[in-house]
Amino acid sequence: MQELLSQPMISFENLGLIEPIQRALKTEGYIKPTPIQEQSIPIILDRKDLLGCAQTGTGKTAAFSIPILQILHEQKQNETRRDRHIKALIVTPTRELAIQIDESIQAYGRFTGLTHSVIFGGVSQRPQLSALQRGVDILVATPGRLLDLVNQGYINLSHLAILVLDEADRMLDMGFIHDVKKILALVPPKRQSLFFSATMPPAIVKLAGTILQNPVKVEVNPIASTAEKVQQSVYFVDKDKKGPLLIHVLSGPEVSSALIFTRTKYGADKLATFLNRAGVKSDAIHGNKSQEARQKALNNFKKGKTRVLVATDIASRGIDVDDLSHVINYEIPNVPDTYVHRIGRTGRAGAEGIALSFCDSEEMVYLRDIHKLIDQTVPVVEDHPFPMMKKMSMKPAPSPKQKRNNFSPGKRRKVYGRVS
Ligand code: AMP
Repeated sequence: MQELLSQPMISFENLGLIEPIQRALKTEGYIKPTPIQEQSIPIILDRKDLLGCAQTGTGKTAAFSIPILQILHEQKQNETRRDRHIKALIVTPTRELAIQIDESIQAYGRFTGLTHSVIFGGVSQRPQLSALQRGVDILVATPGRLLDLVNQGYINLSHLAILVLDEADRMLDMGFIHDVKKILALVPPKRQSLFFSATMPPAIVKLAGTILQNPVKVEVNPIASTAEKVQQSVYFVDKDKKGPLLIHVLSGPEVSSALIFTRTKYGADKLATFLNRAGVKSDAIHGNKSQEARQKALNNFKKGKTRVLVATDIASRGIDVDDLSHVINYEIPNVPDTYVHRIGRTGRAGAEGIALSFCDSEEMVYLRDIHKLIDQTVPVVEDHPFPMMKKMSMKPAPSPKQKRNNFSPGKRRKVYGRVS
């Protein structure tokens, strides 16, 4: 693996971007590249393979989309007749992410004359086919629908020059490994490959090894450090008081938009109904809702028509809302990485964000795992109208040895964090 030697540059002009792209970035209001963009754009323009360790919120979509647009735009200038083959393919795990990447390509590539399209499952394939038949330079796809359309003979990847695998860790979490392998068998071995993942467990490193050739590694914002730029706090509250506490918190004028997380689809629906009954206009998105319903809810939220969106973790993947003021963990996730992904929805691209968590007595153990991962203790809001009946404290977890010493028959075993 090559190491990155060059110093990061500071402006889009310095990155050698062509005028149509610079103009588009100005239109988007981007002033300077984010660290992942500073590092990745020159490597990709240099036609090298790239292993990017970065999560959403770092600007990684632009980090790969901008140089792809530039490479294909330059190639297009040399074409004598219109080449209708797919030249770049971006594979991403969820529909929401796919749509967002396609929107970004539209925004950054609006003055390049390149064509692009997005395909994903759960909707009719007909409109997607008409776009494909017109010819696309860049295709964004989720794995299932991509393979489906390849098998039906609508997609030919044999002229592909650039392959991007986005959110590779989530791709594996969601069970797409076999689909990814099938896709790899369909693309030319001589190609440029870009591989992005928020985390790099051994399975991901192994997968990257099968895809990339002599890649340059770029790493920004390791998962735990996301937590540093978001202002976090936790409310200890009994389970049955979480609803009233939420109404109280949402009544604060500083909450201009809030993404609220529940663990289950049923919980998301129940909470949205509760909020609407209490006069707080809100929508819920989760996997049981149709793609149309999810997109509508998301658009309403992005446009500020609804101030509150309740989501499950899966449905929220790829939700990218500029200026999201608050993330609220109505339920604490049992997987600590999920907490970091959730709070990373606010405080995007360097902005400040606020993340509030409602923790009941059963969730203390999850909070302790989160503290370990982020290597900090989330400050407690002591002063609120619905304090827990039983006082909680966040003492460090006892070591296994301490636990053994504390436990003797007849003596009540100390339960972590509970002061009775
Ligand atoms: P991503 O990590 O690709 O999901 O991007 C996160 C957010 O950052 C998106 O809302 C982008 O529009 C925004 N963004 C990306 N690059 C920049 C930039 N250079 N300056 C300002 N915002 C950016």
